[in-house]
Amino acid sequence: MSSDVPVTPGVACCRPGRRQSAARLDRTVNCVYCTVMSGSCHDPTLSRLLENNRQWAARMAKDRPGFFERLAAQQSPEVLWIGCSDSRVPANEIIDVLPGEVFVHRNVANQVMHVDFNCLAVMQYAVATLAVRHIIVCGHYGCGGVTAALQPRETSLIGNWLYPLSEVAARYRAELSALSDRDRVDQLCEINVIEQVRHVCQTTIVERAWRRGQRLAVHGWIYGIHNGRLADLEVTVSGPDEIDSACARAPSARRPRIPG
Ligand SMILES: [Zn+2]
Repeated sequence: MSSDVPVTPGVACCRPGRRQSAARLDRTVNCVYCTVMSGSCHDPTLSRLLENNRQWAARMAKDRPGFFERLAAQQSPEVLWIGCSDSRVPANEIIDVLPGEVFVHRNVANQVMHVDFNCLAVMQYAVATLAVRHIIVCGHYGCGGVTAALQPRETSLIGNWLYPLSEVAARYRAELSALSDRDRVDQLCEINVIEQVRHVCQTTIVERAWRRGQRLAVHGWIYGIHNGRLADLEVTVSGPDEIDSACARAPSARRPRIPG
């Protein structure tokens, strides 16, 4: 519930642009909206986030005059990032780019499924409308989703989501079982990236882009949470004829080898 941080009438509340009038304040001095919602903006964690944002926006406006005005007018990122939802792998931060420079889609274990309209809609907008030049599938070592996919399947939503990855793990069972627990997870993290690069390349979105001559390359990267470093898995595909050869060339694909 809300703490008793006073809310001044007329001061912006947790909703951008929303202002509380004196008439909307209840007797506990919390604004009506926050009291009703109980997941209040007066929670210390949320208050810190809002204050962080206020300071960040002020700093950006001071250091880069006109930055937000330019972003409001248009976005023209050159990169679509498809990564894991893991809180330790935030796209913009780890590649050190500003808002507006990378279009982002994230889900558990950076999956690209041809029945996932969320991911496909993001890809279509990025490729057909924004005309990004690069799609980066980025996995990370020690991925919890990949680890779960190596466990006996659970009857849960996350189990359903990871089922295709479990199938990939099963395909490489013999090779993966020869590794230590940690290496097994990390090896499957790399294989997963390569698998998703292949899926990206096989979407009609990317196929059509290449067919109409659009310059577009798909890459597979992996991130080390332990050292903050990205590595290129060298699985770059720039056209339909390169898919199999690029995936087979990838270093991780050689141990174990991606089947033809
Ligand atoms: Zn992950």
